[in-house]
Amino acid sequence: MRQSDVVVIGGSAAGIPAAITSRRHYPEKSVLLIRKEEQVLIPCGIPYIFGSVGSCEADLIPDSVLKGNGIDLLVDEAVKIDPESRVVTTAGGEEVQYNRLVLAIGSLPLVPPIPGADKENVFAIKKSVPYINHMIETLDTVENLVIVGCGFIGVELAEECRRDRDINITIVEMLRHCLELTYDVEFSIKAEEALRSQDVEILGSEKVVAIEGNKKVDGVKLSSGKTIKADAVIMGIGAIANVALAKEAGLEIGPTGGIQVNRYMQTSDENIFACGDCAEKVSFFDGKPSRLKLASIATMEARIAGANLFAPRRANMGVIGVYSTILGDIAFAAAGLTEKAASEMGYSIIVGEAEAVNRHPGCMPGGAPLKVKLVFEAGTRVLLGGQVSGADSAGELINAISACIHQRMTADDIATFQTGTHPGLTASPIAYQLVNAAEVAIANSWKASDRWTRE
Ligand SMILES: Cc1cc2nc3c(=O)[nH]c(=O)nc-3n(C[C@H](O)[C@H](O)[C@H](O)COP(=O)(O)OP(=O)(O)OC[C@H]3O[C@@H](n4cnc5c(N)ncnc54)[C@H](O)[C@@H]3O)c2cc1C
Repeated sequence: MRQSDVVVIGGSAAGIPAAITSRRHYPEKSVLLIRKEEQVLIPCGIPYIFGSVGSCEADLIPDSVLKGNGIDLLVDEAVKIDPESRVVTTAGGEEVQYNRLVLAIGSLPLVPPIPGADKENVFAIKKSVPYINHMIETLDTVENLVIVGCGFIGVELAEECRRDRDINITIVEMLRHCLELTYDVEFSIKAEEALRSQDVEILGSEKVVAIEGNKKVDGVKLSSGKTIKADAVIMGIGAIANVALAKEAGLEIGPTGGIQVNRYMQTSDENIFACGDCAEKVSFFDGKPSRLKLASIATMEARIAGANLFAPRRANMGVIGVYSTILGDIAFAAAGLTEKAASEMGYSIIVGEAEAVNRHPGCMPGGAPLKVKLVFEAGTRVLLGGQVSGADSAGELINAISACIHQRMTADDIATFQTGTHPGLTASPIAYQLVNAAEVAIANSWKASDRWTRE
């Protein structure tokens, strides 16, 4: 029987950093990574395979990252875990004994129970090279594509499928606006404008109630009673945790359907850890179960799991939810709670916004507007969330905002923290958007308390 101190099942955003982290923290331990696919797609790059990146081969995670970190690889499917004897059995008949096991087995695309969802040319995004290649072949021949869901996956797919293809694209979204779960409405409207300017049609407040056609899809019936033409349909509405293997091994499953873990990413079996899309999550803000599934969360959890395998070294504070994307040439990024979400959670809030060109003077090469909106808890002025749009530095700025949220920084902390600025790289120190948005929020809170005093 094969033996390894650490066995990681899963070779993507969670599995790889879990394996690397365990090697870094416990260099004397052997690590074996088991994954079922020959080639692993960079999951966040999948929408871009349909356009900018051009092929699955250009969107692969190289295996050299495993070799370079002294991690052994077994390409096979794990079909059984015996927690008593600490043995993993694979479809190929291998048995591997572990001391610690990490489950990083990810998620499966969510396919809603819509009549006709099993017809030919109806797709959900599977992270599989042969499947995506088949999708590309199909999309290259169709005239009318319907995408169900206008979240990140839907909007990115729409833009990329449009690139270099003569194809009509309609996104159907049951909420009023696209990206509505992540942004306040003014940002969603901007994103919709960016998509519409590329001839993508968006139908908000509509639900797909049936997929029509004989063997193959030829139309989509909507809740309003309308039917629209469709030669292909892509479901882009999210993912569910892949937990069959864990369930069969007797591990506890959490309230949203993920493998239940504690703050140390340990499952109900003390020798088995779980991280990434397959693991249950709680919100950073209220500790309640969260359905968020992101690669950035998967890697964070993997670094906690990997570090804790033989001693408790790191704790998971819960998910903040940090997103970024780019539509046309406008970047959109968000972290934590929107104004709407914070109000719905019962927070009394103050908001500050600032917009400036990301260079100084603004005529410097690369100058583009960048808008920052920050949401603070009114009493403590602790940062709850931020949204950024405009120049592509939004993608990095949102990570700084996430760090501020994580450290529970206040509006005053942010207004007075030291920033580095440069004419060719950032807004001027006077106009620096993050700092000014915090200052505006503080000023707004004074206005609100003045009004309170007057009233
Ligand atoms: C189209 C698309 C775009 C996205 N874009 C972004 C983005 O821009 N930013 C972001 O943060 N997130 C993004 N996400 C979400 C992100 O892809 C996931 O959160 C991330 O892939 C989760 O990583 P994971 O390792 O937990 O799971 P997965 O990526 O699902 O990987 C699971 C791994 O486990 C293996 N496995 C499963 N079962 C077994 C078994 N029994 N035996 C052996 N191996 C097994 C799989 O083969 C795979 O290697 C996107 C998702 C999609 C679908």
